[in-house]
Amino acid sequence: SIGALGGLWSDFARAAGASQRVFELIDEAPIDDGKGSVIATPKGHIVFDSVAFNYPTRPDLEVLGDVSFELKPGEVVALVGPSGAGKSTIAQLLSRLYDPISGGIYFDQQRYTQLDSHWLRQHVGVVSQEPMLFATSIAENIRFGQPKASDEAIKEAAKAANCAEFIDSFDQGYETLVGERGVQLSGGQKQRVAIARALLKDPTILVLDEATRALDAK
Ligand code: ATP
Repeated sequence: SIGALGGLWSDFARAAGASQRVFELIDEAPIDDGKGSVIATPKGHIVFDSVAFNYPTRPDLEVLGDVSFELKPGEVVALVGPSGAGKSTIAQLLSRLYDPISGGIYFDQQRYTQLDSHWLRQHVGVVSQEPMLFATSIAENIRFGQPKASDEAIKEAAKAANCAEFIDSFDQGYETLVGERGVQLSGGQKQRVAIARALLKDPTILVLDEATRALDAK
């Protein structure tokens, strides 16, 4: 038994090293104080007013300087710019993963910082460049957008996102397991599942961050 202690020690050291990241995450302060307000009937009017931003890890790199624009309810707006211009950053600010350094973002005339972040994220859906899939079935991955959705609603969303065809071609259909981070699907299939998830969620603001770049023209 004393001989086995040496092996145990290395397990212990590994666990201590791994848990450091977990404790860092637990210690992280939430972006809001949980006292934010909600908007009863959101219309989806967004204003960026002189927003300046840089990432906390790179304080000397100005990502957004003085960005102002307005998105009106019902509008479809495209942001165009070179690689690294800050388009994805705007998507991240829209879901309030970060707050601007200066300037303000408004949702239906209410400042983002006064809104409840949980409420906000229910109303802003982002399909990112790298779709985030979990190691479970396709149905569960779509259901993630709306946990109480029926199987019918999932199929409808899949149809709208052009997934139904490839899902039906799999033996297990909607129960097909996608593997860790969706490795068992192609890039375009992953993006379609992510779009189906966003459509199921039916958010007030839908942000597609090059969400179709791996899809074929058809
Ligand atoms: P692309 O068209 O290539 O996707 P983009 O316009 O979406 O580009 P962003 O991803 O918003 O560009 O990046 C803007 C700048 O911010 C880049 O210079 C990038 O290096 C930097 N950046 C992006 N994410 C982070 C991060 N998490 N931490 C630090 N810097 C970042």
